[in-house]
Amino acid sequence: MTPLYFLFGDINKNNIYIKRDDLLPISFGGNKARKAVNFFREIEQGGFDCVVTYGSSSSNHCRIVSNMAASRKLPCYIIAPKESSLPTFNSKMMELFDSHFTFVSVNEVHDTIERLLTTLKEEGKKPYFIAGGGHGNLGTQAYVDCYEEIKEYEHEYKIHFDSIFLASGTGTTQAGLICGQLINQDIRKIIGVSIARKNPRGKQVVLDSSYEYLESKGIQISKSLLDNEIIFVDDYIGLGYGMKSQNIDYTINSVLINFGIPMDSTYTAKAYTGMMRYIKENNIKGENILFIHTGGTPLFFDDLMRLENII
Ligand SMILES: *Cc1c(COP(=O)(O)O)cnc(C)c1O
Repeated sequence: MTPLYFLFGDINKNNIYIKRDDLLPISFGGNKARKAVNFFREIEQGGFDCVVTYGSSSSNHCRIVSNMAASRKLPCYIIAPKESSLPTFNSKMMELFDSHFTFVSVNEVHDTIERLLTTLKEEGKKPYFIAGGGHGNLGTQAYVDCYEEIKEYEHEYKIHFDSIFLASGTGTTQAGLICGQLINQDIRKIIGVSIARKNPRGKQVVLDSSYEYLESKGIQISKSLLDNEIIFVDDYIGLGYGMKSQNIDYTINSVLINFGIPMDSTYTAKAYTGMMRYIKENNIKGENILFIHTGGTPLFFDDLMRLENII
C-alpha cells in the first residue's frame, strides 16, 4: 500500500490528494515497478531463466525490469528503438545492470524480438517476454490492485474521491483503474491526461486493454458502455512525447519546493500541469481529487540537470 495523503486545498474549494506510487520500494518505484512485480512473480513461478523486453534506453520500464532481473542474476535483453539516445540517469543505471541492448529501427522491432526469442530457445534457454511499458493483463492487474488500495483508504478515512487523475501513456495504468471502478460499480471520473497519444487512438488503446482484461476475468461488458467510462484527455500534450514547456518546468519547481515531491517533465509534471488546467477549464468545484504519482524519479534528475543550466 503506497502513501496517500492530502496535498492542498485549491481555489474553487477542491481538495487535492496524492497517491505516491513513486515510493514503491523497488528501483525508484512508479507504475512500472507495480507492474513488474507481477511479471517477476510469473517468472519465478515458471522457472524462466532470462528476460526480454522492449523500450528506450531512457525508459522507466526498462530500468526497473533490468534492475529486477539483475538482482535475480537473470540476463536481461532489451530491444530499443535506434533514435535519440543521450545518456540519462536511467540509461546509466542500465549500464550498471549489464543489460544487453539491441538497437533497431522501429519497423524492425517485432521481427527482432521474435528472432531473439527463437535463438534463446534454440540455445536451451527459457526466456520470458514482457511487452513494452508492461502492457497486458498482468500490467492492468497491477492497477486494479492499486484501485483496491484507494478503496481501502476511502473506507478508512470516510472520504470519496470524485475524480482520479493520472499520466496516461500506453493506457495500461488507466485501464487497470477503470476495470477496478467497473468491478466495484463505483461512480467517479478517472481522467487520463495523455502525455503523448492523440485521440481517437489514445482512448481506443485504453478501451481495448480494459476490454481484454475484463474478458479474461469472465466479465461481459459492451464496448459502447466501456467507451462512456473512459476519459482520455489529449489537450495537454504540447509538442509531443517528452516535449517540455515553461508551465511544466514551473510545476516541477513549485511541487518540489512546496511539497518536497519530485516530478518529471515527460510524465508526472506534464500530467499534473494538465490536471490543474483541466480543473480550471472545466470549472470543477468542491471535489475531492486524487492525483496518482506514477513515478519516474530518475527522469526528475535529468530535468534538474537541464533546469540547472537554464537558471
Ligand atoms: C510509463 C509511465 C506512465 C504511463 O503509464 P501507462 O500505463 O503506459 O499509461 C506514467 N508515468 C510514468 C512515470 C511512467 O513511467
